[in-house]
Amino acid sequence: MKTPKLFFSICIALLSFISLNAQQGVISTYRNELRHEIYRPAGEVDGVQKPVKNIILMIGDGMGINQLAATMFTHDNELTVTQIPTLGMVRTQSSDRFTTDSAASGTAYATGKKTYNGAIGVDPDTNRIANIPEILAPLRIVSGVVTTDHIFGATPAAFFAHQPQRSMAGEILRDLPDGSLSFVAGGSVETFEKVFPEYTEILPQAGFTVLHDYHAVPQHHQSDRIAYVTPAGVPKLIKDGRPDFLPVTTRYAIDFLSNKPSEGFFLMVEGACIDTGGHANDLETVITETLDFDQAIAEALKFADKDGETLVIVTADHETGGMSILRGDISSSELEVCFTTKGHSPVMVPVFAYGPCSDRFRGIMENTEIMKKIISLLKK
Ligand code: MG
Ligand code: ZN
Repeated sequence: MKTPKLFFSICIALLSFISLNAQQGVISTYRNELRHEIYRPAGEVDGVQKPVKNIILMIGDGMGINQLAATMFTHDNELTVTQIPTLGMVRTQSSDRFTTDSAASGTAYATGKKTYNGAIGVDPDTNRIANIPEILAPLRIVSGVVTTDHIFGATPAAFFAHQPQRSMAGEILRDLPDGSLSFVAGGSVETFEKVFPEYTEILPQAGFTVLHDYHAVPQHHQSDRIAYVTPAGVPKLIKDGRPDFLPVTTRYAIDFLSNKPSEGFFLMVEGACIDTGGHANDLETVITETLDFDQAIAEALKFADKDGETLVIVTADHETGGMSILRGDISSSELEVCFTTKGHSPVMVPVFAYGPCSDRFRGIMENTEIMKKIISLLKK
């Protein structure tokens, strides 16, 4: 008579374990009232087989397919990025973890090499690896980075720094002068003063014009290099009142880089705070940050249509929050989602490509392949 009792107890224990786990999901709801105009790319330059002169790589940090879908569903079922017809999927695993962080994934995009979580521009043995701007500089191709994160944030840092740990903010920023970026924009004066207080002398010595007002960028197009560092007190998130500096500075960066005497340009633009929304299990942040990023994507696509020799790539470094969509209503722009983790998840992320040779980005690829394709297209 003991066995049925034991069996019963095990069943109860299992059931409570399952229901406990089910409760770990965090429900978040949002009704989106923000609207921006969709840019519909002309399509004439898309997929043509001719040399690529410029590449704009747009990384939505933490922007998995469901983050994109959630934003689309609450924006009358369409975004600018969803107008791009060519897409593929990207595997994001790092050299030491099934689930990557932004440092390893940023390094994969910047250098074409898998490395360990936390690494900035170094391989698993902490040897420095050349990044895209460093490889392109000898070819007279100029580079820039625009982010809503701190400039020392893992994603932007992977494009100019070489440090064994992403937490080494001061060391990362001190790599800026010797890096190959002609244009850099991101946060913030507070952090620069804290971890790199001598920047006001060192950056100008390295040819940078340091600006704290992004609207002043166009007046300094004759500068050798520009560093726009957000002034004190700028809110981190759109929902807290961050201004539109991501789309506007993306346009300014394109103007600046495309007018340099050069053989072309490479620009990385990061929508950094989609990840913040995922970590906070906050749908409002996910959607409002993806909408802001979508407007930066529009700036890149407008230039690609006008220029005809520019390839735009839109992707993510990983998914954040293990977000699934439970229910919604497109007509009222309401959505309910469930976050299954406060961290990142190992799922594949989308990659969209628009412009000459966009067909190279179809199918499933490793994150390291993106960099190799960028280099082979720009080397011609
Ligand atoms: Mg990032
Ligand atoms: Zn993250």
